[in-house]
Amino acid sequence: MSVLDELDDVEMGETLLEVRGLTKHFQSDSGFLAGLFGSDSVEAVDDVTFDIKKGETLALVGESGCGKSTLARTILQLIKPTAGSASFKGIDLTEHSERTIRPLRRDMQMIFQDPQSSLNPRMKVGQIIEEPMQAHDMYTAAERRDRAKELLDRVRLDPGYYNRYPHEFSGGQRQRINLARAMATDPDLIVCDEPVSALDVSVQAQVLNTMRDLQEEFGLTYLVISHDLSAVRYIADRVAVMYLGHIAELAEKEELYENPKHPYTRALLDAIPIPDPRSRDARGTLEGDVPSPIDPPSGCRFRTRCPSLIKPSEYDLSDAEWDGVLAFTRAVQRRTFALEYPEEEEKEGLPVRTVSEAVNEEYFPDGRPSGPVSEVIDEACRSIADREWADAQSLVTERFEEASTCATDRPQYAVDAEHGSDPHRVNCHLYRETAIASGDASRIDESPRAADAAAPGETAQTGDD
Ligand code: SF4
Repeated sequence: MSVLDELDDVEMGETLLEVRGLTKHFQSDSGFLAGLFGSDSVEAVDDVTFDIKKGETLALVGESGCGKSTLARTILQLIKPTAGSASFKGIDLTEHSERTIRPLRRDMQMIFQDPQSSLNPRMKVGQIIEEPMQAHDMYTAAERRDRAKELLDRVRLDPGYYNRYPHEFSGGQRQRINLARAMATDPDLIVCDEPVSALDVSVQAQVLNTMRDLQEEFGLTYLVISHDLSAVRYIADRVAVMYLGHIAELAEKEELYENPKHPYTRALLDAIPIPDPRSRDARGTLEGDVPSPIDPPSGCRFRTRCPSLIKPSEYDLSDAEWDGVLAFTRAVQRRTFALEYPEEEEKEGLPVRTVSEAVNEEYFPDGRPSGPVSEVIDEACRSIADREWADAQSLVTERFEEASTCATDRPQYAVDAEHGSDPHRVNCHLYRETAIASGDASRIDESPRAADAAAPGETAQTGDD
């Protein structure tokens, strides 16, 4: 019996793709990474869980290197996962060999970012579109030719382009050819990896428009991968924000843009430029680099950049005092705290008092917190005065950042079902505390791993980060 016979019939609005605890860790054979980082495993995707319903568009958004493309390829089994499952129409793709699931590939197509390099320059447009139909033994040669011309028309290209070569087209037209090829086998799911990021802004909207029209006409389901939150707003129904291999937040589009909860999502949205030359609003920027997936941070993966890091419970600090301590910590870690070391004092460094006064003025204008916090700051100031920045960085990281629950505990998903028709899931201790305080058990999840996630439709879902 073919795997095609086992496929579930999926109606519009029902779950087409179910991803549970999907994980992909790449291993290095050389031991080189282990020598550098104490680990030879790159945690590209770790414990990702979500569903896609038939006919919807789910956008997967995050900075470069956050694992979005690896996740997409792992879902399609172009890369074999380390753990977890990806079920398409009820068939768990991870349980079958490539040979077994090959017939399913006609139902799951992919469009790549660069429309130029993804088209064979030696093939005519017609051949390019017919190739997947041929590979799956679909239609007669004459039918394939007719279908290729019809698809050109559907993606708003002249069917007369059938005998032309890819180099004769613009970037937007080439992406339309890619779209026609992806549609050739009449798929249910199209994974679009940065479908418009290589195109001019004016062309992006046209291609997205065509994608949306085709979706309406053929009931297509899209998984759209993008680094650009503003571009996917146009086409997405739901948005999953990904950071360092994890989904930080997942919600209905409008809910996510209007009511973002995860500090990372908020930072990404703050960074979107306002198209108004009169606006004087300073847009927020996300500070610091994305940590290496070879050695990801403990606890919450965003904690090394999070502006809302939770204050350590061992210190008795007001919120305002913690803001100052955190700002000082970040400035020391990134060495953005400006100090003028006079040249003649280069060897000796600066007087500690000078550094201490500058720190107080910059970060604690209303007075420095007393007790152990002040002692740590004093010690950091001494290291900075002696130009021993690495010592100061280790000290504030260990005593302040790593003392936070954000560093010691992995956040679990909290669920807000109050907004939108879908649950709004966020992977952050802050929101989880609010959910617990609400006394509503359905908003929190105690299960330890996303692999044990709740079934679709339930309001609580898991995934320790
Ligand atoms: S868990 Fe902590 S570090 Fe992570 S996003 Fe929430 S507040 Fe920030």
